[in-house]
Amino acid sequence: MAKKKTESRVIIHLACTQCQERTYTTVKNKKNDAQRLELKKYCPRCRVHTVHRETK
Ligand SMILES: [Zn+2]
Repeated sequence: MAKKKTESRVIIHLACTQCQERTYTTVKNKKNDAQRLELKKYCPRCRVHTVHRETK
């Protein structure tokens, strides 16, 4: 796969807002998502779906 010149896709970690557990890693496009991402994901520690926020 050819890679674009611009480094707009960056790896981020998603941490549960309830317990701060970093459960997920994903990539985001800086141009499309300038702010911090917030996604509803299943947290294995809380054992429910919680909001996961982008961390560095
Ligand atoms: Zn949690």
